[in-house]
Amino acid sequence: MRTGLSVAFGILIIALLVCMVIAKKSRKPIGNALSFLLAGLAIPVLGNLILILSTQKTISTVGYYIYFIGMDCAIYSLWYFTHVYCDMGKPKRGLNILVCTLFVADLIQYAMNPFLKFSFTTEKILVENKSYFRLIPKLGQTYHRIVCYGLFLAVLVVFVVKMIQSPKVYRDKYGVIVLSIIMTGAVESYYIFSRKPMDMSMIGFGLLGLLVYFFSIHFRSMKVLDRMLAGMASDMPDALFFFDKNGKCIWTNEPGRQLIGVSKDNYDNVKDNLKYLFGDELDLESSGWFKRVTLGTGDDKQYTHLAMRSTVDEKGKITGSYLSIRDITDDQREIKREMYRSTHDYLTGLYTKEYLYENISKRLKDDHETDYMIGYIEVSNYKMINDVFGKEFAELTIKKIAGFITGNVSSKCLYGRLSDDSFGILFDKSKFDEDVVKTHLENFTVKDDNLEHQILMHFGIYDITPEDDIDVPLFFDSARLATTMIRDYYHDIIVYYDDKLRNEIIHNQLITNQLKNAIETRQIRPYLQPIVDSRGMLAGAEALVRWIHPDEGFMNPGMFIPVFERNGLIAEVDRHMWRCACEILANWKERGIEAFISINISPKDFYYMDVVPTLKSLVEEHGIDPVKLRVEITETVMMSDSMDILKTVDELRASGFIVEMDDFGSGFSSLNLLKDMNIDVIKIDMKFLKDSERNMKSGIIIKNIINMSEELNIATLTEGVETAKQFEILYAMGCKLYQGYYFSKPVPLEDFEKQWFD
Ligand code: C2E
Ligand code: CA
Ligand code: CA
Repeated sequence: MRTGLSVAFGILIIALLVCMVIAKKSRKPIGNALSFLLAGLAIPVLGNLILILSTQKTISTVGYYIYFIGMDCAIYSLWYFTHVYCDMGKPKRGLNILVCTLFVADLIQYAMNPFLKFSFTTEKILVENKSYFRLIPKLGQTYHRIVCYGLFLAVLVVFVVKMIQSPKVYRDKYGVIVLSIIMTGAVESYYIFSRKPMDMSMIGFGLLGLLVYFFSIHFRSMKVLDRMLAGMASDMPDALFFFDKNGKCIWTNEPGRQLIGVSKDNYDNVKDNLKYLFGDELDLESSGWFKRVTLGTGDDKQYTHLAMRSTVDEKGKITGSYLSIRDITDDQREIKREMYRSTHDYLTGLYTKEYLYENISKRLKDDHETDYMIGYIEVSNYKMINDVFGKEFAELTIKKIAGFITGNVSSKCLYGRLSDDSFGILFDKSKFDEDVVKTHLENFTVKDDNLEHQILMHFGIYDITPEDDIDVPLFFDSARLATTMIRDYYHDIIVYYDDKLRNEIIHNQLITNQLKNAIETRQIRPYLQPIVDSRGMLAGAEALVRWIHPDEGFMNPGMFIPVFERNGLIAEVDRHMWRCACEILANWKERGIEAFISINISPKDFYYMDVVPTLKSLVEEHGIDPVKLRVEITETVMMSDSMDILKTVDELRASGFIVEMDDFGSGFSSLNLLKDMNIDVIKIDMKFLKDSERNMKSGIIIKNIINMSEELNIATLTEGVETAKQFEILYAMGCKLYQGYYFSKPVPLEDFEKQWFD
């Protein structure tokens, strides 16, 4: 018995110390308090071990001291540990001091015991034929017991209260300890009060330590975990169905029950109902799959994501399976909306450029039967519409055009919005009636609050041939390029991209690149055409631009002016021409020649430069009288933006220039203009003259224009005089100045000077 007990104590001490080291090393917050407790519990066990082994009084007495002082340590550390284990925070300061004082007092009385014999003495008895020193407790020992029992009881109370207050799932965490405390306490009491030698209760103490160690460090309540997982599963928005390893449904959460309509206590129909809802092919016998199923039709469509997984135990054995069903309708709708947004124009709902290209490309690959054409529709002056009529009207215009396209295309068409002011269409060539489309486009209007505005559009067409590689952006580029060629015209609405146009575009690009050099090397220069008075004497000359091209030879203005008017480079040409005219005039001035030179101003010059300051600085620079530099502005320019031009004309005249209205009569309100516009000369368009030979009325009109101008103090000049007869008629009508092939064609400066000044 003695040996057995001492072996047991020895093992316990080692076990407690090992656990103490592990607890200390573990990173858990409870580690410190636990290792303190385990150390505390090991000491009284050690004391008892000494008692059992010793046969000498002194050693036994030392054993008792270790036992009692160890008990103090054990109880104190238990009290401290309880605070941490029961999540009560650190012991309160006041209470801690009181407890410590009680223990310190206990230690003091033991310290004085050797002298006063106040705590205990021992008596020798025989146990198993060996001497054993039994305890004879005194008053001090009673104090020791009161302190220890008191605190032990307090700890017990704390655990009991904790056990009662905690949720069910946590109860075993406290319950086991309560039970072991009671048992240990009871056994201990039995030994103390029965005064039986060889205190076995220490085994209880040791086991209490190990139990506490297990619960603190290794125990993870499966019940707690189960509860948590079950709670989570119940709260999940997904429908969950759990099956045991035989495939029988054992549980489903609320969304699951609602989805297939089963009650909480009867899962018999789960499988049948699932198959009814998701189709017979739903495979509930195997796991590890997922799939998407769409329920319902039309707007009520519901999109679901199903996943079947198996559950395994720690050894990897299948314990069952579960099916999760997620409603992904919202996600799916959002994806669809996102898809729509990225493929459809926000304003018109038409395809975006990229999506249109993608669709056209697909169509052309799939459909080899139909002959298709690409159409590019451009709204003219969209920026101006925006600026003048406002964004709202501009957007309304775009929407109306979108509606117009949608309403007029045939079934095989694909169409979309390419940019702010352009649309693209793929259409069936055989269904395309150019005249009908042209009429539609010509008559397209958008109504403001009260006014109907005509919206000008241009329609460029690229005819796709079977030899073409499918390159949709290139098709549209070509159609767009074609429209740039007619952008400025009101009556050309539809244009085809063909070889002629292609060559023209290439040619335009070429001469555009060459322009700067052509100006610098004077390939571009003025030809002069004389302007004569009624006696046939030279009055002045019109400077008309010519390009003597090294490769292409002689180029008339008609071959390059429209190109530069479109791309804005006309300002460079005119500035150069004006400078040349000034140089000639400066030279004439030196030679005492009195003739004037008329220069031409393109309508586009007003967009690209400040015309008046440019002209003023040119005459100043060359030291010539502005009267000698006459300025020709065409009648059509005078009609558009009339207020601004009026101002320009006044400024020019105020600066001393003579302003001529070119091509008079070609517009519609020429006569009207005369009364508002302060001009010096009108140049009557030769078209009138051509007619006047056959048509009496034209003759009468010219005569009246001349008479009226005379009264308004405006000189008249007729251009395009080709015959002596024309000259005679005009002379008879009272025309003052004449220009035309009858007198001379436009010629180089040297020829002009030779003819008129030599
Ligand atoms: P425009 O200003 O009306 O010039 C008169 C045109 O009529 C010139 O054509 C001239 O050669 C031609 N012409 C003169 N007399 C007769 C005639 O008796 N019979 C016929 N059939 N034609 C005659 P050109 O030089 O080809 O110029 C054409 C147009 O190009 C000009 O018309 C003018 O609008 C423009 N242009 C010419 N030079 C310049 C320039 O330096 N700058 C600008 N912006 N435009 C210019
Ligand atoms: Ca002219
Ligand atoms: Ca003219």
